Parts: sequence; structure tokens; C-alpha cells
Amino acid sequence: MLSYVFPLYPNREQREELELTLETCRIAYNSLLEELHKQQIPDRSAMQHKLVEMKKSNPGFGKVYSKTLQYECYRLFSNLSALRSLKKKGRKTGRLRFKGKEWFKTIVYNQSGFRLEKVTEKRSIIHLSRIGSISIKTHRAVEGSVKGLIIKRSCGRWYLILQTDARRKDIVHGSKEIGIDVGIESYLTDSNGIKVQNPKTLEKYRMDLASAQKELSRKRKGSANRAKAKRRMERLHRRVTNARNDFLHKTSARLVRGCRFIAVERLDIKGMMERPNYNARNIADASWNRFLQMLRYKAESAGCGVVEVDPANTTRMCSSCASLQEMPLYKRVYDCGACSMSMDRDCNSAINILKKAYAGPERAYAENMDTYSMKQEASGF
Ligand SMILES: [Zn+2]
Repeated sequence: MLSYVFPLYPNREQREELELTLETCRIAYNSLLEELHKQQIPDRSAMQHKLVEMKKSNPGFGKVYSKTLQYECYRLFSNLSALRSLKKKGRKTGRLRFKGKEWFKTIVYNQSGFRLEKVTEKRSIIHLSRIGSISIKTHRAVEGSVKGLIIKRSCGRWYLILQTDARRKDIVHGSKEIGIDVGIESYLTDSNGIKVQNPKTLEKYRMDLASAQKELSRKRKGSANRAKAKRRMERLHRRVTNARNDFLHKTSARLVRGCRFIAVERLDIKGMMERPNYNARNIADASWNRFLQMLRYKAESAGCGVVEVDPANTTRMCSSCASLQEMPLYKRVYDCGACSMSMDRDCNSAINILKKAYAGPERAYAENMDTYSMKQEASGF
């Protein structure tokens, strides 16, 4: 399902209304959690009953759309099951926590209680039950019908997230077969020697972030200026995240559009962080894990095969004669002592990665995947 995010411009009255709704939902969530802690076995119907009781005794609850309030019960149980699945994976988990004002950010309208009215090409009005009608700038056309919405407060601003039943446009895969090597200097290098530069997003914002942090630390706790400085900090962090995600989405999509088969190294991020020549901050900024995740899901829906290979020796081996030599990080060119081949070190690794994928059993899997997607096309899907 496709979601659209639009900035929301409530007037003063509406903003107060939104704040009040958010606060009521938070109180409801926390009260339900308190109830949950009392129960031996979580009992959903008892919780719903508790919600009805709360509504009777607290007139403020009547000002919030009933389904929005009911959603808090759902939110609690879905948090509970998320916690359980973490526990199953062996993670250390505590109990669910009560949510403070800073941690409660969304109001949910599920299925009903709202109506989107298009006024002009660039402007719409969202009618919300119990809150009112708020104007929005729709900078992109909304496709499909709106199934639900979330109102989110982030860094002192309000956003509307529309959840529609429209489907994301599928990427069509290309015809190349490549191996890719990821690194710090170049974000990635493919087996044809084509490089994508590392945007080093965090690096670009480091001065700004440092000065915002300094400003924040100077402000007195609880003061209005501190809140303002904090918002500035949050805005900067959001800008970094947005820029980074934009890069990752574009890069992964471009690869899938050009290729039918992509071989990558299985990454050992933890091991990399411990390597003396690698800078942990750079690695975190590069977010290769997220990149590979995006590459995988985009490739899968496009019918392009992505294969992970064992990273052993991909850097040290000559892609021409398969002899091995040490390759310390400062050596940017692979000069083979055995067959005198000379090549960019990352490109040499990328070729080795592709060769490994061809040799491995995953190759057959990738080919099957391709026929599978062709069959789908043939049968009209
Ligand atoms: Zn060689």
C-alpha cells in the first residue's frame, strides 16, 4: 500500500484541538497499560471494557473520535506482540513503558471518521471527526482511495499521512549481470568499473549538528529557548535521514532498472567496525544494511535476482588468474604479481563477487526466479 505524507497547517484553534486529542490518546494508552500490568493474562475484552468506563468518568474522552480512542487498545496489543517477538529472538526485553509527552506522536483514524475533499489541483481539505476541517497543500496527486490516516507531530510540526490502496509502481528490471563491492571511498563499484560516490551525508551536516548541539547544551532545562534549540536539532537530524534515504532509494532503484542479476557480498558490519582502518562513524553513515535491504525488496518485486556470496578472499584474489596477495587498504590498485594484471581494487573485488555468484548454487535460484517472473508476465499478471 502506498502512503502519502503532507504537511498540515492547522490554525491556532485546530492546533489546540490536535494537542488535546493527542494528550487524551496518550492518557488512554497509559491507563490501558496500567490495566494490562494488573492482568495475569492479557485480556483484550476487559481492556475494551475499561476504555468504556474511562469514557464515562472522563468527559474529555468524549471529545475524541471513538475509533481513534479504540485504536489505543490496538496500539497497546501490537506493541505487546512486537515485544514478544523480540523476546523470542533472544533480545533482552523489559515491560512496555508508559509514554511521556515527548514519546507520543500520532493520532490514528482507521477506516472512518475522516473525508478528503479536493478543492483545487494543489489544495485539499481534510475533514476530521471531532477536530474539524484542515487545509492541506497536496504537492502530489493522491492515487487510489484513502483507507486510513495518521496525524503525526514531529519537531513541533504536524503532518498528515494518508494510507491508500494504490500500489507502488513496479520497477522493470534490466539486462545486465553485475557484481558490486561496497566501500567507504566509493559507495559502490560494479564489475564493469562503474562507481557510485559516497554522499557522506552525516559529514556534510556535521558542523551544523555540532553547533546545534552546543546551542542546546547552553539553554536552561525546561525553558522555551531550550525547546526551540531542540527542535532545530531534530530538524537537522531529519534532514540527514531524508537525504540519506533519498540516496539509498535512488541508487538501489537504478541498479535494479539496469540489471537482471546482481551479486553482493554478505556484509559483516560488526567485523568492519572493529577493523582499524575503518571509521565506525563512516560505516554507520553508509547504511549498507539498509541499502541491501532496499535492493533486495526492489529486485524481488521486479524479478531481478540478488545473490549474496561469502566475502572470503574477494579482495585478495586476482580476478584474472585467481592468485592471492595481501591488499592493505592504502593500495587502491590491484597489481597482480603473478599475471601482471592491473585494475582498480574495488572493481577487482566486484568481478570476484560476480564470479563467486556464478559458481555457487544460488545462480540456479536466480535463474529460476527469472523464469518465474517471465511466467507471471506471460499469464497476464
Ligand atoms: Zn593475476
